[in-house]
Amino acid sequence: TTGGLRYRRVLLKLSGEALLGEREFGIDHGVLGRYAADVKEAVDAGAQVALVIGGGNIFRGVSPQGAQMSSRAHADYMGMLATMINAMALQDALEAVGLDTRLVSAIDMNEIAEPFIRRRAIRHLEKGRVVVFGAGTGHPYFSTDTAAALRAAEVDAEVILKGTRVDGVFTADPETDADAQRYHTIHGAEVIQRDLQVMDLTAVTLAKEGGLPLIVFDMNRPGALTRVLRGENVGTTVHW
Ligand code: UDP
Repeated sequence: TTGGLRYRRVLLKLSGEALLGEREFGIDHGVLGRYAADVKEAVDAGAQVALVIGGGNIFRGVSPQGAQMSSRAHADYMGMLATMINAMALQDALEAVGLDTRLVSAIDMNEIAEPFIRRRAIRHLEKGRVVVFGAGTGHPYFSTDTAAALRAAEVDAEVILKGTRVDGVFTADPETDADAQRYHTIHGAEVIQRDLQVMDLTAVTLAKEGGLPLIVFDMNRPGALTRVLRGENVGTTVHW
């Protein structure tokens, strides 16, 4: 049943940093378990969920360590492998709550993940399997936000969901400014013009060209994902 869902097929982007929880490095399994429970709730409600996970908790091309590598491209490939570590941990957590999953890598790793074949990925979603897309776009100089916009377009997702630590886009930084107001909806042109840093420009441009709305919401609030899918007043919707 898809009763009451505004969005049925969605691409959920989670940052690697979110997996830190209270840790300084690595993966907090409590956070993973909570995310998995939320995805389960969404799938049980009738949603088809694809996931893109970042790698910032382990390695970033654009980071002090990355800058020490001989080339940006080399560092970026390390960053993509970092996303695969997270993707495997996420897959394990999703299976632990009883979901069927498929791990799809943008870089061939046939022993642990499927290659990306668009029609096959869509088929998995239709069958109710949660598809985790790892290794970003498979190309250096891109981000996992861009991978999220790309995969969302490719699998015909209706919306990109960006799970963050704050409940949407605000007029100012809500973590430092008590007067900050949350936008309920905002036009993508304003996001670009005011440089609101919702996603990087490559990702925003892809979303815009695909006419794909983006919802930024607080993934650390249990149940928020399903509320977003039901179209409740949670987070900020960026529309075109
Ligand atoms: N990366 C890349 N191409 C991609 C996606 C990611 O080269 O298509 C690399 C890049 O070095 C990036 C790192 O992987 O810094 C980790 O991804 P990201 O920083 O987007 O993760 P997040 O900030 O979401 O944790």
